[in-house]
Order: sequence, then structure tokens, then C-alpha cells
Amino acid sequence: MGFLKSEIKKFYCAFCRTQRSVRNQIHVQFFEVAICLAASLILMLLFWQNIDFKFVAIFAILIIFSEFFIQIKQRMTMTCPHCGFDPILYKKNVQACVEKVKAHLEARKNNPSTLLSRQPKLNLPPRKQTQKLEKKMAAVVSRANQGKNLDVRL
Ligand SMILES: [Zn+2]
Repeated sequence: MGFLKSEIKKFYCAFCRTQRSVRNQIHVQFFEVAICLAASLILMLLFWQNIDFKFVAIFAILIIFSEFFIQIKQRMTMTCPHCGFDPILYKKNVQACVEKVKAHLEARKNNPSTLLSRQPKLNLPPRKQTQKLEKKMAAVVSRANQGKNLDVRL
């Protein structure tokens, strides 16, 4: 019954580095086609009480719906449940992804149930201290400008 199990792909989140798993099914497979065919045949017998080739239209509609929902499900599972990182959104819009991760981490921090839950401890990358770097750069630039000013004055 290997065709009933969709492959589960395990990988590490690119942001929080926790291991998680995602179903590897992107499109409709044999099992869904068989279910849609059986459902369309049952609907054909319910509607027309006879063999009618109108069931092909019902079958096509069911296949379209199952493909749509499988793709929506695949897209929903791409977001990391622990840190909220969405790699697809990151490729499209980095700033929106950053805001989403910040909002998720803030909600996680303020939710007291996360302290009691079995969620793994996040291994977040260290934040760059941009303010300290900006102060150091401003000090270096001001020193360089003072030196220039001294040269000009001489
Ligand atoms: Zn993550």
C-alpha cells in the first residue's frame, strides 16, 4: 500500500534550524484520481440511475478541486510552525517575511502556553547589532573628517 502514503520529506528550517517534516505531494496522484473516479461514479448513479457519460464532467470538477486543495495544503505546510519562516515569501519579498517572523515570534513570546508546550527550543541566529556598528562607523568617519579638516587648516 505504498501508493497510499505520500512521501514525507524531513528537513531543517532555514531560519530556526529545527527539524520538521512536510508532505512531498505537490500534485494529484493515483489515490486521489481513484477516489474522484469512485465519487463521480457514485454521483452518476445517484443523479441519473444509469450509466451516463456526464460523469466525466463531475470527475473533471472533482480532480480540479482535489488539485486545488492539495496545492493549498502544500503551500500552508511550507511555513515553519515554530518560527513562522516562509521560504516562498522570503524569495518574493524579504521585508514581508521578516515582519511575519517578527509577528510570529512576538505572539509566541507572549503566549504563556508555549512555555508548557512540547515545542522545541528555537535556535535562532544571532541578531546583528546594527546600532553599535553604526556608532562605530560614525566615530571612524568623524575621526577621518577631523583629520581631513586638520589637513585643510594646515
Ligand atoms: Zn523555523
